[in-house]
Amino acid sequence: MARLTPVVALLLGLMFVSSCSSPAGPPAAASPLAGAQSPSAENPASLGHGIQKAPIPSAAVAVAASEQANKEPNKEPNKEPNKAPNKEPKPVSEIEALLIQTPRCAEGSLDCFGIHLHIVGDEAGELVRDLAWVSEQLAGAQDRFTTSIDATFEIVAVDALEGDKREIVSRLDRDRLGRPHFSRGLIHVFVVGSLANVDDPGEIRGVHWRDRSNTARRWVILSSIAGAMTLTHELGHFFSLPHSRYENSLMNKRPGGLPFSERGFHPREAQRMRRAKKTMLKDGSLKARTSSSD
Ligand SMILES: [Zn+2]
Repeated sequence: MARLTPVVALLLGLMFVSSCSSPAGPPAAASPLAGAQSPSAENPASLGHGIQKAPIPSAAVAVAASEQANKEPNKEPNKEPNKAPNKEPKPVSEIEALLIQTPRCAEGSLDCFGIHLHIVGDEAGELVRDLAWVSEQLAGAQDRFTTSIDATFEIVAVDALEGDKREIVSRLDRDRLGRPHFSRGLIHVFVVGSLANVDDPGEIRGVHWRDRSNTARRWVILSSIAGAMTLTHELGHFFSLPHSRYENSLMNKRPGGLPFSERGFHPREAQRMRRAKKTMLKDGSLKARTSSSD
């Protein structure tokens, strides 16, 4: 029995390590309190339970098929081994899929808000996140906003961003990411490879960001390590919510409570978001594609 002990200890050790949330970098700083930071930054340790860090595709993985020029004039037309018909226009089809195959607003009496998705791709056309990941983000938001404020979302436009937007490091990067794309009436969501914490070392999973040169311009940035409910949390900020201490609220970043996948918004938060929705609809910063009031 004594011989097994080190092995068991090792296995237990591995299990323990792999089940911890493991953001890159040093121990997570304490969650910023509501309003403590100008724009709301998410602590990677507190959002997205059980979400693994995604590998970010490296920039240049494309390997050109080496063209072995056959010196001999080969007369056999069907003998080219490496001419696989793998020539689908991947960037286009992936982008189209994000537009067409992601969850749509349900018919009915909900306010349907459009999301313009901007997602980083590399030179080979590989996007930092795929259809399933984006769909999961959207489905979470649809579910929680439907039940709390009669609002829902669908992607109405998608574009791929250049690879130089893969790593968002500074406040200026965040400003420059959204500024050229911003428009009123819908919600701009950016999906990037990594998003640095601008207040502390390390990375964060998402942020609701206001352009510092004009704070009326604002957008959501999601890192590729975002948990499934990160978009919903950031949309909570978009609809005016600060972080909260309500038990099992998606806006509560304190340790403990239910996993984020099982949380929603507190009734008081819902109330506040309803007011914000009304205000945004009135001032035109958001336009409903279909609406309960029209
Ligand atoms: Zn937050």
